[in-house]
Amino acid sequence: MTETATMTESQPFTSDLLKGKKGLVLGVANKRSIAWGISQALANHGAQLAFTYQGERLKDSVEQLTATLPHPAPLYACDVTNDEDIQTVFKKLDEDFGSIQFLIHCIAFAKKEELTGRTVDTSRDGFHLAMDVSAYSLLALTKAAEPLLEKEGGSVVALTYLGSEKVIPNYNVMGLAKAGLESGIRYLASDLGKKNIRVNGVSAGPVSTLAARGISGFTTMLESHRGRAALGRNVEIAEVANTALFLASPLSSGITGEILYVDCGYRIMGA
Ligand code: NAP
Repeated sequence: MTETATMTESQPFTSDLLKGKKGLVLGVANKRSIAWGISQALANHGAQLAFTYQGERLKDSVEQLTATLPHPAPLYACDVTNDEDIQTVFKKLDEDFGSIQFLIHCIAFAKKEELTGRTVDTSRDGFHLAMDVSAYSLLALTKAAEPLLEKEGGSVVALTYLGSEKVIPNYNVMGLAKAGLESGIRYLASDLGKKNIRVNGVSAGPVSTLAARGISGFTTMLESHRGRAALGRNVEIAEVANTALFLASPLSSGITGEILYVDCGYRIMGA
């Protein structure tokens, strides 16, 4: 531990690991959002952050949260299904920060009616929407971020879930979208590796957030996860956040195109 790193039971672990590093976080909806947990971890280690929010509806709550951070944090409106929004965000980010060293993607959406029943009943519209918001957005955002990330090299981190590779009841079309996202992570890692831009995913165990509560039977999912996970418990947001911090930081400089599982050892169990 360096002289500037501290950790006590009541205080979070802090250091200068990301001092002078800047980045954009997408997907803070409220204080329970995984994106907010990651933002706190990044800020605790010295990073300066900018944020997007989807619509005016969320602006106030994101503003109130980000006002608690040590550095002033620019906020930009961005619906990731809108290319103009994405262009505007990165134009403003260029003006505000000049370069970034990380991009944190914590965005997913599917219609509530698609997150119950049978996957075979998924509508064409529902499929397109889930794919657009949850998978294509990573490509569009990474492309827009490339000029800012390539200046010093950087790291893109996206949140994913085991439903991409295993059948999880009611996860349905979101499982297909996460499979697309994870494949995208590998292709982007290959495209951008020579520019020293790394792209990785964090596959988190279930965490009770707004998006998660949209999945039918989410409470049962939490219970069954706790019962089967090697560690015998559900994951804490801080544990997911610390993994994203590691992937965003130079400590993970040799890792790209990977998915890291932060699921208390659920995935390794056979039964
Ligand atoms: P959350 O707090 O509800 O965050 C989801 C975010 O996505 C919200 O800020 C939401 O904004 C945003 N979003 C949805 N559609 C958007 C659009 N068109 N443009 C811009 N933003 C949009 O839930 P979360 O659980 O923290 O989710 C963050 C990420 O973690 C997601 O990728 C999720 O799949 C992943 N993940 C979650 C879990 C879990 O159990 N919670 C497990 C593994 C992975 P609005 O609120 O305005 O829609």
